[in-house]
Amino acid sequence: MKLYDNHQRPINYLRLAVTDRCNLRCFYCMPEEGIDYVARKELMTYEEMFRLVSLMTNMGIDKVRITGGEPFLRKDMMQFLHSISQLQDLKKINITTNGTLTEPLIPELKKMGIHSVNLSLDTLNRERFFEITRRDSLPTVLRTLESLLQYEITTKINAVVMEGKNTDDLIDMVELTKNHPVGVRFIEEMPFNGTGAHYQNLQWNHIKILQHLQDHYPNLQKLPDPPSSTAANYQIPGYKGTVGIIAAYSRTFCGTCNRIRITPKGMLHTCLYDGGVFNFKKIMRSGATDLQLKTTLLEALGNRAKNGFEAEQRRFAGAPVTESMATIGG
Ligand code: SAM
Ligand code: SF4
Repeated sequence: MKLYDNHQRPINYLRLAVTDRCNLRCFYCMPEEGIDYVARKELMTYEEMFRLVSLMTNMGIDKVRITGGEPFLRKDMMQFLHSISQLQDLKKINITTNGTLTEPLIPELKKMGIHSVNLSLDTLNRERFFEITRRDSLPTVLRTLESLLQYEITTKINAVVMEGKNTDDLIDMVELTKNHPVGVRFIEEMPFNGTGAHYQNLQWNHIKILQHLQDHYPNLQKLPDPPSSTAANYQIPGYKGTVGIIAAYSRTFCGTCNRIRITPKGMLHTCLYDGGVFNFKKIMRSGATDLQLKTTLLEALGNRAKNGFEAEQRRFAGAPVTESMATIGG
């Protein structure tokens, strides 16, 4: 079975945020004091999440990304991963993590057949890491990176590009691709930080990031992008890894968007920029049948905004996004 939205885009990818809690305080994601975390009883239970994943895999979702907050802060996360890894129609399970708690779990993740891990890492400089995340965890995160590579788990590094914070580090990060088969992806900063936009105009947009890379690597080669890729992919000839640029704020990739999101509270987002279109947890707790859940998803997909700009306009009468990315999952 295949799922399509009202713009005939195939939908096969669910991003499930399992918690909004986090042990870092990344500048672009949360204020220093953190956010008001969802009360535990407001979180979807593992049973509820399993029910949704299982039902959606019957409808055409074949790829799930587990994200958060920091997914490994949630107790019994590995058991949940194990349970969804048994779902027949689920071809790929990917995880996005900040890498602070991940290293000891890597052998088990490998055994479970987790397909790939996205590691968030914005700089290789310890002081700047502290400035950005407000925690001194770079050595731990680098150990996680080493272990992911050692266990040959497909690894992508997500680096948010921030004016005045890490733009001097981009080339050092590209150099990671020289000897390692990693994808280093530079992401435009979005205003999902719990307070609102950091800049009046985004300076480091995808065009400027590309220009910066081309200035250093005049032989930077464009690679073909996989279908529904949010990244424009490049490689430096002779390097083992690749470099990606994600125009997350400029939203150049909406035309092939294949993804939906569910927040820790069970809210369905059919676009990162919408305000949430339907709460699955509420209807599950009021006794919805599987058929009702499926019908609800189909209705939401039948009314999907054509791109992130339309989704943003539709939300709360066009109010700009300010929530923390930890509440949506990125
Ligand atoms: N805590 C995990 C982590 O950091 O990898 C998973 C959740 S985090 C919200 C998911 C991704 O969203 C991370 O790669 C992070 O860099 C990205 N992100 C968070 N806030 C962002 C923002 N304002 N703009 C762009 N990307 C953002
Ligand atoms: Fe935590 Fe990830 Fe947000 Fe950083 S980006 S504060 S690690 S949820």
